[in-house]
Amino acid sequence: MSQIPATTQQSFGYEDFIASIDGFEANYSKDITPEYYFGFPIGPVLEVERNLLSRTIKSIAYFSMEFGIAPSIYNSFRLNRPIPEQNQFFSHEVFSNYWLCDYLFKVQTTGRMLDIPIYGGGLGVLAGDTMKSIADSGLAVAGIGILWNKGYFKQKFWYKHGQIPETLTWDPYNYPGLVPLKDFVTIDTKEGPLHLRLWKYYVYSYDKSKACPIILLDSNCEQNDPRLRKLTDQLYRSDEVWWKIFQRVILGIGGMKALKNRGYNIDCYHLNEGHAALALVEKYVHLQDKDMMAECRRHFIYTCHTPVAAGHDRFRIEDVAQILPDEYTRACQMFGRETEDSSQINLTFMCLNNCDQVNAVAQKHGEITRLQFPEFSSKIQAITNGVHIHTWLSESYARLFDRYQDVFGDWRKYPENLAKAGDLRGDEQFRKEVFEAHLANKRNLTGLLGRWKLKEDVLTIGWARRIAGYKRPALIFHNIQEILKIAYEVGPLQIILSGKAHPNDDIGAAHIDDILDHIDQLNAHRKVIKVLILENYDTYFGKLLTNSVDVWLNNPLPPFEASGTSGMKAILNGVVQLTTLDGWVVEAADHDIGWVFGYRHMGPEVGDEKNLRLDEDAAALCRVLRDVTALYYRTYKELRVDTQSPWIDKMINCVQQAAFFNTQRMVGEYNSRMWARALA
Ligand SMILES: *Cc1c(COP(=O)(O)O)cnc(C)c1O
Repeated sequence: MSQIPATTQQSFGYEDFIASIDGFEANYSKDITPEYYFGFPIGPVLEVERNLLSRTIKSIAYFSMEFGIAPSIYNSFRLNRPIPEQNQFFSHEVFSNYWLCDYLFKVQTTGRMLDIPIYGGGLGVLAGDTMKSIADSGLAVAGIGILWNKGYFKQKFWYKHGQIPETLTWDPYNYPGLVPLKDFVTIDTKEGPLHLRLWKYYVYSYDKSKACPIILLDSNCEQNDPRLRKLTDQLYRSDEVWWKIFQRVILGIGGMKALKNRGYNIDCYHLNEGHAALALVEKYVHLQDKDMMAECRRHFIYTCHTPVAAGHDRFRIEDVAQILPDEYTRACQMFGRETEDSSQINLTFMCLNNCDQVNAVAQKHGEITRLQFPEFSSKIQAITNGVHIHTWLSESYARLFDRYQDVFGDWRKYPENLAKAGDLRGDEQFRKEVFEAHLANKRNLTGLLGRWKLKEDVLTIGWARRIAGYKRPALIFHNIQEILKIAYEVGPLQIILSGKAHPNDDIGAAHIDDILDHIDQLNAHRKVIKVLILENYDTYFGKLLTNSVDVWLNNPLPPFEASGTSGMKAILNGVVQLTTLDGWVVEAADHDIGWVFGYRHMGPEVGDEKNLRLDEDAAALCRVLRDVTALYYRTYKELRVDTQSPWIDKMINCVQQAAFFNTQRMVGEYNSRMWARALA
C-alpha cells in the first residue's frame, strides 16, 4: 500500500483517520466520532498521528513481542455496544487447603474486561507501563507488537494433574480501543507471501491529554495459507522452531514494513528484548548503499532483559533459510553469528553487534550482562526498570497522598515527590493513616476471597509472578514443618500465590504440582495457615495482590532475576518486601524496605541456574519469617495498630523508594541517556 503523501501530514485529521479503519461505518462509527475515541477525547490521537508523520518532530518506534496494557485496571475505553462475553472475564477458580470452598465457589470479578491478551508476564507489563509513561511524557512514539489471536493461554488447575493449559478465545473486532486498519503489509517468505493485517490500539496519558499508538500485526487473514494464518495465534508458541522463527520475522521485518506503510518518520528504533532483532536485517536489506549500515546503527537501541546466555534465541542458519529469502538469510548470517564458523545465529548477539546503544534493566543486571558479553561491555549501560504509578497505585494510597498534598505536591505529575514520605515519619497521624490505607486495600482482598474466610488481622503473604525454576515458587513450602511451627507458635498465616508456567516448561509445571501437593497436605492445619493459589494470574490480580497483602515475597535465585517489577508495585502501596538480594532489590536494599534473606551472589562467575539452593534459602526464609510474624503481631493485634512500630517505618521507606522505581523516571533516563543520542 502507498505511503500517506507528504501534503496530508500537517493537516492529517479526523477524516483521514477514519478512512484508514476497516469497516468503520459498519462497526466503529458510534465509538469513533469527531470528538471521541471509545469514550476518550480524540484530539490526542490525531495529534500523535501528525507528530509521527512530521518530518521535523523526532519520533521513536518501540518494538516488543508482548504488551501488558491492563485496561481492566487503568484507562478503560468504552464500547457503545455490549462487550461480547468472551471479552469479559471468566471467573477464577481457586485451589486452597479449604477444599470444600474450592469446590463450591469461584472468585467472581463480574463486569470486568478481559485484559487485551497480548502479553505473557513481566516483560509485557513493562512494555505496557513504558508506553503509558511515554504517553504521559508527550513523546511521539509508536509501539510495534503482535495481535495474538488466542492470547498466551488459559490456565486450569486439575487436582493431581497440575496445570492444564487451555485455549483462550477473544474477539478483537469487539474490543474497546482496538481497530483493524484497511492496510496490509506483505513479507516474502519461502512459504510464499505472508500477509499481515495491521491493527491499532491507543495508549492514553493519565490525564487523557496525550496518546501513543501501538501497531499490532496479525497473520490471521483470508489471503494467507491456513498454516500461515495460525502464526499469530499464540504468544511464545515454542514447540517447533518454525513457529519461533516466523514469529520473530513478523515482529522485526513485519514491524519495519508497518512503520513504512503508515508513513511514520522514525528516527530511533528501540528493540525491547532480542525478539525484534530482524528489524535490523530489514533495514539492511533495503539500504541502497550497504555501507550506510554503520550510520543506521546509531538509530537502533536494544534493551536486554535476559540474565543467562541459555535464555537467548539461537536458530540454525538452515532453519532460517527455510523461511527467509536468501538475501535475508545472508544478512542474518552476517549480523547474527557469534563466531565466523558458527552454523547458528543468536538474536541477542545480532542486537549487541548492531545497536550502538544497549541497556540492561537494573544495575546488578548490567554487571551480569557485561560479564557475559565482555566484548560489548563498553556499550552496555544499565537503566533500572520501573512501574507506571497511575496503573499500580491503589485508590486508598492515592487519597492518602492527596490528603498530604502540602508535602507531596503534584505527585501524579512528579512521582519523585513520593520521596518526601520520609519527612512525615515523625507524624503520628500520617503513620496511622499509612496503615489504615493499607487495611482498606487488605479488606478488598479479604472481601473478594470472603468465602475462604480470610481474615483482615492475619499476616498475609503474597507471591505471584510467572512460574519459572529460578523464581523458586515453592520455596516457602520447602521446609513446611518450620512454617507450621511459626504459625502455631508465633501467629497464624495466610499465603496467596498465583502464576502461570509456560505450557512447554516442564520444570515450571513440576513446581505447580509441588505447590498443589503442599496445599493439599495443609488441609488439617487450616486453623493456623490458609494457602490459596489463584488461577489465571493477570494484571487485575497483579494489582489486587501487590497492594493488599502485608508482605510481598520475592525469592528468585540470585543473580538470575534481571530486574523484577512486582515488588515495585507493592512498595508503591506501602507493602513491605521479604526478598532475596537480586534485580532491582539490590538498589533499594540499603533503605530498609523489609527483610532481605538468602544466598548472595558475589561473582565473578554467573553460577548455575539449576542449583536452586533450596535447603539453605528455605532455612534462611524461615528464620526471617519468624521475626516478620512476631513483629506483625506486635504491630497489629486485635484490630489495634501500634503506630510506633518499626513495621510502619518500613512501609514509609517503601513509599519513599517508589519515588525512583517508576517508569516515569525510567523513560526519562531512556530519553536523556539513549534516545537523545539516537535522535541527534
Ligand atoms: C508485574 C507482573 C509480573 C512481573 O512480576 P515479577 O515479580 O517482576 O516477575 C508478571 N505478571 C503480571 C500479570 C504482572 O502484573
